[in-house]
Amino acid sequence: MTETPKESYDKVFSSLEKHHSWFENSIPLIASENIPSPAVREAVMSDFGNRYAEGWPGERVYAGCTHIDEVEIQCMELAQKLFDAEFADVRAVSGVVANLAIYSSYSNPGDVMMASSIPAGGHISHGKKEHSGTAGLVHGLDIEFFAFDPEEMTLDVDKTKAKVEDLKSQNRLPKIAMFGGSVFLFPHPVKELADFLKGHGMHINYDAAHVAGLIAGGKFQDPLREGTDTMTMSTHKTLFGPQGGLVLGFDRHEESIKKAMFPGLTSSHHIHHMAGKAVAFAEALEFGKDYAAQTINNAKALAAELNNVGFKVLGEKRGYTESHQAVVNVLDFGDGGTIEADLEKANIIVNRQLIPGDLKANRHYMHPGGIRLGTSEITRLGMKESEMKEIASMIKDVVIDKKEPGEMTAKIAEFRKEFQKTQYCFDNKVGAYEYIKLR
Ligand SMILES: *Cc1c(COP(=O)(O)O)cnc(C)c1O
Repeated sequence: MTETPKESYDKVFSSLEKHHSWFENSIPLIASENIPSPAVREAVMSDFGNRYAEGWPGERVYAGCTHIDEVEIQCMELAQKLFDAEFADVRAVSGVVANLAIYSSYSNPGDVMMASSIPAGGHISHGKKEHSGTAGLVHGLDIEFFAFDPEEMTLDVDKTKAKVEDLKSQNRLPKIAMFGGSVFLFPHPVKELADFLKGHGMHINYDAAHVAGLIAGGKFQDPLREGTDTMTMSTHKTLFGPQGGLVLGFDRHEESIKKAMFPGLTSSHHIHHMAGKAVAFAEALEFGKDYAAQTINNAKALAAELNNVGFKVLGEKRGYTESHQAVVNVLDFGDGGTIEADLEKANIIVNRQLIPGDLKANRHYMHPGGIRLGTSEITRLGMKESEMKEIASMIKDVVIDKKEPGEMTAKIAEFRKEFQKTQYCFDNKVGAYEYIKLR
């Protein structure tokens, strides 16, 4: 490295500013991302980020926590109200850490857990040790997969029951059943399986990382009323941010989860993010129903229009999606990896996606058969069904008609001009991606 420290320092800020301006002029369709309000950004910039508040409000290890306690109590109450839960632990610094709290509270290393495989929509934090999945690698769980129905794009109830009976006969009954996932088009059959799984002694967790905002808005499914014991999530996918995790449950879960979270899994719980979660939960209570409804309507519109212009959209039999996601099989036009890169050059940001059938056909993570699109962020920017038509047509321009990236970036910058503010929030004085300089 030949540059001076000051040159390196300046380069960091130059990259940050370029990133902001790129996102001002792009179509952000990553299903796990969203854009927070200026209020959440303000909370995240506060001095809370420089403090420790180990333990529980009122029982901290250090002094100086008076106002932190006020906000944390508020944050827990807001989370409980938003999801109608008896208990909330708002300290998980991420969705993965929230899941780890469940693993360590309700299983021991060597136990079996039932979860979805990655091509069937599962998340790597539910995965096997040989794939470096968190559950296997960090907690020593053995993973067995739920049976999946690729036509219906959800779990197969009867085949799952048969699989559990089979595991029982091998003396390998799972300790945890983990619903939820990262490709999540339709609700999981929690109601249909909960009594059966509990009858076999399993703790049921529902990982709502992707769909938490839709659940909070009352528009997806209601896991805690359908037989789920605990629910984990990220706070920034369909919820309003900032990045973080959350564990919900009933009073009976409080003691073990609190211990797992501290001192087990956190020392500092990133208190500025905790404050941001409190702000986001208040926004979700006020605006979350309208937002969830529009997000889902946008995903349905985007999926249907992509199908109209010539793409194979998964879940056709069931109307493509009931969530914020659409998944497209792109094998007619290339592979997911190449198409992700072509779209990025045009400033359309998506991710490549393993889809059912990929592993059997020897397609792997770098060049899978699909792409995944999410409407959480573009909905927060105020887009509606008519914009979904335009976006589908621009995706066709790039992927099917192979238009030049330069032509597309100009068109997209123009399209984005009227969508520069975060909607569904109390205050939006500054732009969604406005770069705020404190130096
Ligand atoms: C994104 C995701 C997570 C991980 O969440 P982080 O907040 O990134 O740690 C866990 N589970 C599922 C199903 C996810 O999609």
